[in-house]
Amino acid sequence: MLSYDVCECGAPLQRIERETPSPRGSEVVLRVIAAGVCHSDLHIWDGYYDIGGGQKLKLQDRGVKLPLTMGHENVGEVVAVGPDARGVSAGDIRLIHPWMGCGECVVCRRGEENLCVKPCSVGVHRSGGFATHLLVPHPRYLFDIGSLAPERAAPLACSGVTAYGALKKASDTIADEPVVMIGAGGVGLMALALHRKLGGKSAIMVDIDPAKREAALKAGATLAIDGAANDALDQIRAATGGGSWATIDFVGAGPTVKLGVDAAIKGGKVIVVGLYGGDVVVPTPFLPMRALTLQGSYVGSLNEIAELLDLVNRKGAPDVPVATRPLDQVNAALNDLRAGKVIGRLVMAP
Ligand SMILES: [Zn+2]
Ligand SMILES: [Zn+2]
Repeated sequence: MLSYDVCECGAPLQRIERETPSPRGSEVVLRVIAAGVCHSDLHIWDGYYDIGGGQKLKLQDRGVKLPLTMGHENVGEVVAVGPDARGVSAGDIRLIHPWMGCGECVVCRRGEENLCVKPCSVGVHRSGGFATHLLVPHPRYLFDIGSLAPERAAPLACSGVTAYGALKKASDTIADEPVVMIGAGGVGLMALALHRKLGGKSAIMVDIDPAKREAALKAGATLAIDGAANDALDQIRAATGGGSWATIDFVGAGPTVKLGVDAAIKGGKVIVVGLYGGDVVVPTPFLPMRALTLQGSYVGSLNEIAELLDLVNRKGAPDVPVATRPLDQVNAALNDLRAGKVIGRLVMAP
């Protein structure tokens, strides 16, 4: 098999050849058909998250080891099945839930492996899909994609379930009130598409990039606000009738979280998804006086992947622009993403 691996933080991925793994026990080996390129790959590649004040959260201190094959949005064809793997057979096309935990703790047993304190995620802690083959420890991580095209299904594993998990946290208000979204990147556009399928009333997108605002309007946003405008906050308040009930921040920079907090109405929620980095000061009396909820949302659970695939198979694939590229262009794809040149999603096709 062939993979493109991070051997040194931030340096170009290197092409590595090794023996294709044979599945043991409950393991399953898949041939990768589609592997999405995600913004968090840039952080994993760099080896850190910016946590504000010049501080860095190093991934190598959190169990990430090099060399690493990144790629956590994968669809593959099952090519080999271990003797204890039930429910899948060679030839099956499956989406791989990448957010694996230890599989044994209480959190994992209730299906929220994405929140396990011993994460073992595909493309982060274990080998991912920027490769020709991928080994999965158990068939419970494999999901039938129904009639979806593999390159459309792959982004559901991260961008899709992340958007879905965040929207679910706003589900008490989205049918009656506009939802404010910050950041019209791949996940933001995915959220716009899913918001409509979930019966959302309307969505207001905030982004500092005019091309991304235009993409958001095309994707169904009722209004697109320039987050860098001096009166961005006033524009959000006017568009929401006095303040936002739910703001989902897909950027997660200090100023974007602050904008979300400032724009919240009494009883409103700010759901932070993006990992751009930075910090924010929230006056503590705001929390009780404005009954403010400041909540994080991290990818999604096994149940949420299943619900999302059900939704998409009933109501159609999210209409997010998807471009495919051959696997040997993965370095160029990552660089384009970093340079902000990607509208929608890039998917590597080995
Ligand atoms: Zn991702
Ligand atoms: Zn666990």
